[in-house]
Amino acid sequence: MSQSCPRCISCREYGYNTIIMKKKISALMSNSRNLVIIQWSIPAALAVSAILVELLEHKLEGDLHFDGLFLVELLTFGFFGPLIVAGIIIYLRRLVSDELKMAHELQVLNEKLEARVEERTAELEKSNNELLQANTELMKLDELKSEFVSLVSHELRAPLTALNGGLEVAMQSADTLPEKSREVLEIMVGESNRLTAFVQSILDVSRLDAGQMDIVLGPVAVRPLMEQAASVVLASTQREADWHITPDLPPVLADETYLEQVARNLIRNADKYSKKNRPIHICASLENNHVRIGIKDHGPGINAIQREHIFDRFTRLNNNESAPPGWGLGLYLSQKLIAAQNGKIEILSPIWDDEENPGSEFYLFLPIVQAPEELT
Ligand code: ADP
Repeated sequence: MSQSCPRCISCREYGYNTIIMKKKISALMSNSRNLVIIQWSIPAALAVSAILVELLEHKLEGDLHFDGLFLVELLTFGFFGPLIVAGIIIYLRRLVSDELKMAHELQVLNEKLEARVEERTAELEKSNNELLQANTELMKLDELKSEFVSLVSHELRAPLTALNGGLEVAMQSADTLPEKSREVLEIMVGESNRLTAFVQSILDVSRLDAGQMDIVLGPVAVRPLMEQAASVVLASTQREADWHITPDLPPVLADETYLEQVARNLIRNADKYSKKNRPIHICASLENNHVRIGIKDHGPGINAIQREHIFDRFTRLNNNESAPPGWGLGLYLSQKLIAAQNGKIEILSPIWDDEENPGSEFYLFLPIVQAPEELT
């Protein structure tokens, strides 16, 4: 049984061609058989009729003598004429049988080709099924892994909250502790905060991947949100923020909590990856029904190849010991969160005429809240 794929046009055309070829071969075979029959019968009939006509003609003329002229006529019309006709028919029959031979060879080739196509189609189908099965298994494994990671992160969150609470209480009386103990306590607070942030990021990633992030869109004022994010991030650093926010910006349609999370992440990165004593520039302006929020730094810059992968999970451009701590999840999360709020996040780099610190700008585009009359 032919296993040609039902939707593939080439296979259907191939099937039609095979049928046409078979019909052609059977027509050629019957032509060839007919030519064998007429190859001798027509010349024989011609010879007999020519001889009879000659005899009749000479008889009617009363001149039935087998002289030279009569013999020449008999030979010409009764022998050579039919012989030439027989030659032509033989020649035609050869042509037909050559064509028949070629068509037959072609059919054999066609059948071989069809068998190979069937064989390959079956092989392809088999590997397709195997791939599908492997994919399903991988997806199951991925789901299991996500569930496991999410479970572990959940389980870690409660003890971490208790630990952070205890450390906070201990920090309140840190002044009374000997210097060495205070230093250890401060390290513990730092590490505990880092671990908490990591666990939170992992939980966010699992929730995002599972489509369980509850994004609630509403009007959000850009300036207060950016000021809040910058004050939280820059509180523990000496870094200055340089503000360029257009006055009276309309509110954007976004989720306040998640937008602040993204803003904090971008400002934290600008701080982490820039030289000390250089400010972070925070800008916002209106562009075609969108607010463009930009965070510019004086860092090492991000080239075109790096920009292609920087939003991928666990991507870090520099992972050696001297690199600031991180897990390569912040930008992945930020991009997903901004996309979920109908916005986009992009990068410009270099942005300064400074070879050592060409800097980069991460900017967000978010739709503004449309007034009801603008919507109609
Ligand atoms: P993390 O900072 O935790 O590593 P991110 O996803 O926030 O994770 O950033 C991914 C990588 O992108 C960082 O490791 C860093 O190499 C690079 N990066 C992010 N922001 C900047 C920036 N402003 N300037 C230069 N490189 C940056």
